[in-house]
Amino acid sequence: MQKMISVEEALGKILSFVSVLPAEEKPILECLDQVIDEDVYSPYDAPPLDNSAMDGYAVRSTDTRGAGPSSPKMLKVIEEVPAGSMPTRKVTPGTAVRIMTGGPIPEGSDAVVQFEDTDEIERTRGGGHPQAIGILKEARPGLNIRSAGEDIKKGALVIKKGAVLRPAEIGVLATVGRAAARVIRRPVVAVLATGDELVDVGQPLPPGKIHNSNTYSVAAQVKRYGGIPRVLGIARDNVEHLIASIRSGLDTDMVLTSGGVSAGDYDMVKNVLAREGEISFWTVRMKPGKPIAFGVFRVNGKKERIIPHLGFPGNPVSTMVSFELFARTAILKMMGKTTLEKPWVMARMADRVMNRDGRRVYARVIVSRTNGGYLARLTGEQGSAILTSMALADGLAVIPEDVTEVKEGDTVKVLMLDWNESRI
Ligand code: AMP
Ligand code: MG
Repeated sequence: MQKMISVEEALGKILSFVSVLPAEEKPILECLDQVIDEDVYSPYDAPPLDNSAMDGYAVRSTDTRGAGPSSPKMLKVIEEVPAGSMPTRKVTPGTAVRIMTGGPIPEGSDAVVQFEDTDEIERTRGGGHPQAIGILKEARPGLNIRSAGEDIKKGALVIKKGAVLRPAEIGVLATVGRAAARVIRRPVVAVLATGDELVDVGQPLPPGKIHNSNTYSVAAQVKRYGGIPRVLGIARDNVEHLIASIRSGLDTDMVLTSGGVSAGDYDMVKNVLAREGEISFWTVRMKPGKPIAFGVFRVNGKKERIIPHLGFPGNPVSTMVSFELFARTAILKMMGKTTLEKPWVMARMADRVMNRDGRRVYARVIVSRTNGGYLARLTGEQGSAILTSMALADGLAVIPEDVTEVKEGDTVKVLMLDWNESRI
């Protein structure tokens, strides 16, 4: 009987064998959710020139003094400047330039009067461009002008090394003209199922067999958190096949197996792993997912590589919950992320939950918003083989080891699996 360890202790040991991966240069659109490995400075002002924030007329503000709906100030239209072209004329007293949003402000002008504050509509009714325009409102200097560099100054640090590239950061990279960026690469994660009872999807189910679901839920979790899954298929419960399957996955950054880590007769993953690498078996003080194997394979190349291996229990819920706590964190660390904790909320429990054996319970719950807070209700039957409990769940309610009972109305911490917009 091994000693029981806490979730934190297990996680700490796992992470001590996990390193941040090297960086690579990639097109910016492929970098979403990755960590940038360089400081990015802007080579120029953005926007590069003063430009118009409106469709309207670039004027000299002094020419608009006293303008009103019944006292239009008439100006001669000397040019038209669409976005993307440069003005060729200077705005002198009594003149205006018809300008579109984004069009560079012509010399001499210090304000843009939007079409709505001119008699543009009457003048363009018959088609064609107005030769003169009536200004119907006074313009203060600077009106509707976006100044050069108001977003980004030339030479400014726009994205700091270590930042996670979200859609906005990818847009900022594009703004400063970057087609590619150096980001910490995504881990390739091998996913192997074990068990003689398993049949792959798409195959008929002979008596006594079940479909292999862990490969798919786990590979999808790998993707969700930014890794690249490498599906190794199903290893049968015999030593040769298991060894061959595992060896086929040793060019990856991490190996995840499911099944074969409990005390069953055919549970040989542990024995094989003890032979192929270094392995320890942990009884983690958690429910579901108590037995977990953790080991490392050492692959000799030019430089020795350490490939962490997590052996999850076969039960589908235990596997998915163990992934959320351990594999997810390892993947995020490999990707250079520093926020490793799962997003959580505090919620009131709608149901009673008992915790009789001193483990930390991760109860599957449906989370909804109530007046001023959140309500968590159990998804139903909580068995570790009931995968639909995960499918129904928005989060995992954490019942601490030393709490024997959570009563209806008690507040619990809920690790959010998803932010289900339709429910929350
Ligand atoms: P084991 O730890 O190998 O004894 O597996 C525990 C339970 O999980 C058994 O009921 C297995 O049939 C089930 N199981 C193991 N691997 C998978 C899998 N890949 N997909 C679905 N169920 C599995
Ligand atoms: Mg098995």
